[in-house]
Amino acid sequence: MSLARTWSVGLVGLAGGVVEVEVDLSSGLPGMAIVGLADTAIRESRDRVRAAVINSGMDWPNRKITIGLSPATLPKHGSGYDLALAVGVLAASEQLPAGTAEKFLFLGELGLDGRLRAIRGVLPAVMAAVKSGHQQVVVASDNGPEAQLVGDADVWVGASLAEVVAFLRGDQEGQRPVTVAPPPEIEVPDLVDVVGQAAGRLALEIAAAGGHHLLLTGPPGAGKTMLAERLPGILPPLTDEQALEVTAVHSLSGNLPRGSPLIRRPPFESPHHSATMPALVGGGSPMARPGAISRAHRGVLFLDEAPEFGRGLLDSLRQPLENGVVSLHRAAGVSTFPCRCQLILAANPCPCAPATGDADCGCSSVARRRYADRLSGPLLDRVDLQVSLPAVSRRALLDGEAQREGSAQVAARVVQARTASAARLSAWGRQLNGDVPGTVLRDGLRLPRTALASAEMAMDRGLLSVRGFDRVLRVAWTLADLAGLSSPRGAEVDAAVGLRLRRIG
Ligand SMILES: [Zn+2]
Repeated sequence: MSLARTWSVGLVGLAGGVVEVEVDLSSGLPGMAIVGLADTAIRESRDRVRAAVINSGMDWPNRKITIGLSPATLPKHGSGYDLALAVGVLAASEQLPAGTAEKFLFLGELGLDGRLRAIRGVLPAVMAAVKSGHQQVVVASDNGPEAQLVGDADVWVGASLAEVVAFLRGDQEGQRPVTVAPPPEIEVPDLVDVVGQAAGRLALEIAAAGGHHLLLTGPPGAGKTMLAERLPGILPPLTDEQALEVTAVHSLSGNLPRGSPLIRRPPFESPHHSATMPALVGGGSPMARPGAISRAHRGVLFLDEAPEFGRGLLDSLRQPLENGVVSLHRAAGVSTFPCRCQLILAANPCPCAPATGDADCGCSSVARRRYADRLSGPLLDRVDLQVSLPAVSRRALLDGEAQREGSAQVAARVVQARTASAARLSAWGRQLNGDVPGTVLRDGLRLPRTALASAEMAMDRGLLSVRGFDRVLRVAWTLADLAGLSSPRGAEVDAAVGLRLRRIG
């Protein structure tokens, strides 16, 4: 037989499609041509695949080799097709038993010496394979545990092309992935370490309970970063479905631990303010990669010294945060990544970042205003909670030991509040107060006028926009859920208005 076929997967963003690999050997000038919208990396794989086959002790057919990748409309990138191409060539040249190659789907890059290397994005690729009815998947040993996360997949692994071929020939028993026991729960920073900062702790708890975005202002050393790092520790652990979603994104970033890749904790991403747009929201070419906002999916995106990021970069986050997805348009297609994350912005009160946090630092009020203005605009309008933190006094450092609560206690209240909001909001298909549309707040969840007095007054004075009013209502509902109330009273609305109006500068 001089025609063989096998399977692999093409990914665009997190979406994958099964690719049929057909190999035809014919008489004609020896050489190898790949047809079907392949990028340069795939065309370069010709030489890799040839070297790998020869160095694995097999024969390279001295004929004209034509490889078709279909559907031709699906863009195909990278080196992950190497293994499928090699197996296809070996099958077409009758070095494998007839019919074996097409029973499996192959994902992996080959080294010149025939070693089988791990690739990025194996998890979403195997998900796509199983969805299309290809359960029998062969990957590199290092990718095995990740591929195994897809429940219905039947995963085989190999460390080299020679091992895979021995398995396909039936000379050697197939190998299964070796999953390492997950490491003891990675230390998540605990709230018990935070001294003082009652307002900051409360804001963090409200943010966790309602899924609200949060702005923390205060002098350096006030504990903004400490607090932000502790948000994942008071969020509920990811559900099985969420864990797979998050792990799939990190699989594309190529930063999963090898032996036990499943991410169970809400992630925490803190890009530096010198980050580029592609680093923050995703990008790159030809295959777009997820940015920090997507790596923070189901977790926390922390922007320290937020005004330093600049307006353009901050505003670019608004649409993705609102939609929960980032869409990146490339010549090769539109890549879509999820980005349902909670944003925490931290800012110093003025550009000189005074250690004491008082007003005597020498910055003029104009300079302070200009600094604060860098944060204003559509993004800040999405931030329900805006809290300024005082500098930590020596007194608090000495006295604070006795009554500090740890993350576990706070997390228990967060779960309770989230259960209450999920029950109430299920009618609108929502779970968190931070996600409730304004129309629902003002209609289905309308509060009595008496409870709204302070918010309406702030609106009349022009201190609160219509959107700001909605945000106040969302926080008021979270305060009610935390307090175990069936709906917010005047006190919760007052508190929510207070949290909203405390701006920097
Ligand atoms: Zn200053």
